[in-house]
Amino acid sequence: MYRNFAIVPNIMFGRGAFNQLGDVLAPKRVTEGGYVVFVIDDVFKDKPIESRLPIEGDDLLLRVNVDDEPKTSYIDKLVEEIRAYKDVVPDGIIGIGGGSTMDIAKAISLMLNNPGSSADYQGWDLIENPSVYHVAVPTLAGTGAEISRTAILTGPVKKLGINSDYTLFHQIILDPELIADVPKDQWFYTGMDCYIHDVESLEGTFINEFSKAYGEKSIDLCRQVFLEDHKDKDDKLMMASYFGGMSIAYSQVGACHALSYGLSYVLGIHHGIGCCIAFDYLEEFYPEGVKEFRRMMERHDISLPRNLTAGMSDESLDLMVTTALGLVPLWENCLGPDWEKQMTRERTLELYKRM
Ligand code: NAD
Ligand code: ZN
Repeated sequence: MYRNFAIVPNIMFGRGAFNQLGDVLAPKRVTEGGYVVFVIDDVFKDKPIESRLPIEGDDLLLRVNVDDEPKTSYIDKLVEEIRAYKDVVPDGIIGIGGGSTMDIAKAISLMLNNPGSSADYQGWDLIENPSVYHVAVPTLAGTGAEISRTAILTGPVKKLGINSDYTLFHQIILDPELIADVPKDQWFYTGMDCYIHDVESLEGTFINEFSKAYGEKSIDLCRQVFLEDHKDKDDKLMMASYFGGMSIAYSQVGACHALSYGLSYVLGIHHGIGCCIAFDYLEEFYPEGVKEFRRMMERHDISLPRNLTAGMSDESLDLMVTTALGLVPLWENCLGPDWEKQMTRERTLELYKRM
């Protein structure tokens, strides 16, 4: 059976494209007494980008905090806040930030039209009602969250996305100017998320020409960004992120992402840095990719935290192993259908103990 995916229908790309957000929203403001919610990373509090938002009438500026990656409890609270603000459903949800903020915007737009808690919908195609119109304006590049059909959330029992066609943004605005001031370490970690998506997709057993077409272009752009000097490196990284996301849409990620989910679920380590920490120990899976990754680290003078699992209890380590091995499609993509014979609990634990 072939999967029949929806994709983001409207895309704007280019320096200064953010200035057109108001024009994009104008025809969507259809409800009398309606409003739009701007979901923005609170790192931008009182920064110029906030004053550039096309806020009108009763629009709501909702600053969100991403010190912790998005939790289902946080989404539920934000949805309550919007419902309490006005008893009409907003005409649009606009997410402005990195992968975390984009995922928050996706989840809010879904939950405004679906009953219960966001935790009830972690999984595949559990959402019944279409979302509110939602738009992404990325301010960090690499996750591919701008084009993916998932909103990754940490819930009471698992870290798992709300995967559905309704999760997809209706519109994305890719403005490379917005990623110019990202602190170097964060720029590198989120950029490497993209590089690792490409390696895991291209080296995986699920690979096909669709994924290869996007993955090869994306990894080529990553090499230009992280191993060469280019004036338009921000433009290149934004497109790498988009293509990297498209590549995994029709394949899968692999061992590094599976292990990083364990690090994230048990230790709260963020996605980009968690992927970097894990990838550094995965030469046995991705020999060429890991070598190139180390050259990129060296070039940008990045040092990763070490000995993260040193003082951990057996129970916590066990939970980390269970979390990683629970991601069946990722291991299948990495090692093939008999992955369970190769990826034992012992082997997984050994890898974690080295991190
Ligand atoms: P992030 O959104 O978690 O942000 C990381 C840090 O950078 C935060 O402190 C944030 O405030 C700051 N930041 C963002 N933009 C900035 C800017 N322009 N200038 C200065 N600081 C800025 O980082 P991320 O790596 O983009 O996203 C990681 C999240 O994305 C995780 O929650 C992960 O689960 C999720 N993710 C989602 C998908 C998907 O397909 N939905 C894919 C991969 C990762
Ligand atoms: Zn990733």
